[in-house]
Amino acid sequence: MKLAPIPMDWYNWRYAEVRMNDAMLDPMSTSKRKLVVLHEMLHGYGLRDLVTPANKPRVMYQFRSGWTATGLTAAENAVLVAKY
Ligand SMILES: [Zn+2]
Repeated sequence: MKLAPIPMDWYNWRYAEVRMNDAMLDPMSTSKRKLVVLHEMLHGYGLRDLVTPANKPRVMYQFRSGWTATGLTAAENAVLVAKY
């Protein structure tokens, strides 16, 4: 499946604080928890939430329902490379 390009957010981030919610994370599998941490870290690098259902395979998909991401996609990595 070919995914559409990810919109870039060109804010110049200098600081990001991520707070994790243990009550939300505890019921999740270890692999899902790692994806949630990765998702929140990528916000710190300036990536935005993706909301259209076509983005369910991406780490930056916003809604947990139907989220099928397994790791950083090439498109998400490309955004990071372009920004940094
Ligand atoms: Zn998010």
